[in-house]
Amino acid sequence: MRIGFIGLGNMGGGMAANLVKAGHDVRAFDLSAAALDRAKVAGCTLAASAAGAAAGVDAVVTMLPAGKHVSAIYADAVFDALAADTLLLDCSTIDIATARTVGAAAATRGFPMVDAPVSGGIAAANAGTLTFMVGGSADAFARAEPILGCMGKVVVRAGDAGAGQAAKICNNMLLGASMVATAEAFVLAQKLGLDAQTFFDISSKASGQCWSMTSYCPVPGPVPAAPSNRGYDGGFAAALMLKDLKLAVEAAQSVGASVPMGAQAEALFQMFAGLGGEAKDFSAIVTMLDGSWRG
Ligand code: NAD
Repeated sequence: MRIGFIGLGNMGGGMAANLVKAGHDVRAFDLSAAALDRAKVAGCTLAASAAGAAAGVDAVVTMLPAGKHVSAIYADAVFDALAADTLLLDCSTIDIATARTVGAAAATRGFPMVDAPVSGGIAAANAGTLTFMVGGSADAFARAEPILGCMGKVVVRAGDAGAGQAAKICNNMLLGASMVATAEAFVLAQKLGLDAQTFFDISSKASGQCWSMTSYCPVPGPVPAAPSNRGYDGGFAAALMLKDLKLAVEAAQSVGASVPMGAQAEALFQMFAGLGGEAKDFSAIVTMLDGSWRG
């Protein structure tokens, strides 16, 4: 299949490479020369523009930072370049309203579209083990599923347009709050005289266990692959977690849902960003809580 891929950053680079590995003919575009170089090494054909990546293909995948990038690229470049009935897949994490607006604009022009944000991070993007949460019609999902399956291990239809984004921000609100709670627990345990590994050995087998502890422990030691063991570099940036928490709190306000824990997590990540922590992995919030953050 010929697939246009726009947005070859931390996530999109690995995802496009996995489409190539699965045998697809990938036409790639990004504003960054370094991202394009990496895509070329991975076997993508480089396009000179977003429209160039979208022209004459069977499907287009976008993996861009935020809603404004997604709505602009479809309206300004992609829609007018597409062949009839091209399938559109936006894998970026964006606000639900923009996802629905772009999906409706695609439908008006006769293009099936899914919002298909991911969970899993850069390692899963490279390994092809992402989880996709998909919003769109059943027909669009049926066409998107085999493409997404080349980049992930779990592909779930959440509902109609925007439902993938809804699932994503609810999941990440839970992740943000559980990371803060996990970090707090480790800080308190250590101040109460417990060694971090000892607390991990107990709590990871007790009712406090959660992904933030067992797969992504915010203190160095217990989970060797976690960013806490490499100075909190790489991983999922605190700025992206803050973005997702803002999306969740805004979505909650739009439907009158009460999310006090999500709002508190947003405030804490905002504070951490204000201290200069945006580029660090989000688990570095523990260093703000224990007072060791030095910027
Ligand atoms: P990134 O900033 O590394 O990559 C985005 C890429 O889009 C960049 O290479 C940028 O040059 C490119 N871009 C921006 N505007 C463009 C345009 N007009 N035309 C072409 N290219 C353009 O971001 P990322 O970490 O890859 O994240 C992408 C999306 O995935 C975000 O919505 C993010 O929230 C989501 N996400 C990220 C992670 C993660 O761990 N990094 C995990 C899950 C979801």
